[in-house]
Amino acid sequence: MARSAPVMISSIDPIELQAILDRIAGTMAAATERGRVADYIPELADVANDRFGIAVVPVNGEALVAGNADIAFSVQSISKVFTLTLALEKFGGAIWERVGREPSGDPFNSIVQLELEHGVPRNPFINAGAIVIADLLVDGQTPHETVQEILTYCRQLANDEGINIDQDVARSEERTGFRNVALASFMRAEGNIRAPVGHPLDVYFHHCAIAMSCRQLAAAGRYLAAAGDVHGDDARRVSMSCVRRINAVMMTCGHYDASGEFAFRVGLPGKSGVGGGILGIVPGVASIAAWSPGLNAKGSSVLASRAFEELAKATGWSVFGAPGQG
Ligand code: GLU
Repeated sequence: MARSAPVMISSIDPIELQAILDRIAGTMAAATERGRVADYIPELADVANDRFGIAVVPVNGEALVAGNADIAFSVQSISKVFTLTLALEKFGGAIWERVGREPSGDPFNSIVQLELEHGVPRNPFINAGAIVIADLLVDGQTPHETVQEILTYCRQLANDEGINIDQDVARSEERTGFRNVALASFMRAEGNIRAPVGHPLDVYFHHCAIAMSCRQLAAAGRYLAAAGDVHGDDARRVSMSCVRRINAVMMTCGHYDASGEFAFRVGLPGKSGVGGGILGIVPGVASIAAWSPGLNAKGSSVLASRAFEELAKATGWSVFGAPGQG
């Protein structure tokens, strides 16, 4: 029996794509339902909720942007994509002995599941899982050295030395992140945190406080669309097995207990953060970042989610089907 040709997700003409991005930015600028800015981290509560930005970095081509794409925002949980990449590249599959890779179906900071599952977090994108990854990374060095290593890694991935940590946001979370302290302490009691709990927490609070613009974030995520290529630098190439695994975990776990909804509506690997950013990957085609600080009840940006949905509709970008398939 003859086999049909594999379906390819095609790229799109830059002029056409720019028009789509401009239209989306216009719609979002006029939107009245914008969600609520996160206020459980006091420093984030001050961010103006009238902002929206979007950037697309194609695998082969220049970045296209619209709206407030050059304003830096707190990437928060999106940084977990980059710490997971660093940990996977350094320690390989051994990390899966200490953290799972199943969707949690629970809010990002839930404690209940962790107790039932003896201190092994469901996946590296819930807070507990990211704290375990921070514990792996901090082993054998100081928290400060580990934070610098992560920051340097993000700069390399984005090919941008202008990326920094917002120290006020880090301090704000250090002062108020009691749930994260509880998660880390519980995991330490279960033997799944090895360093004194303050060390992985210090690393975690600082990497969540990395600030990037949509343009920088989309550039940083480009390796996930480009089969591990880091801006043509062979020494920094990320392995394809790592890329495939991270895209899979983003698809299944990238939006906490709303991951199914994002897969359903958008159909791309993605990761959200409570700073209002979303990183999305079109494998083989482009890396996308959208940002607007107002969140829905599940902690994802209302307008960035909407923008991804509109972009996926307009371009046909989805890992579940190609343009022209109806
Ligand atoms: N730093 C945040 C926290 O631990 C990250 C949450 C998020 O972006 O989803 O609460």
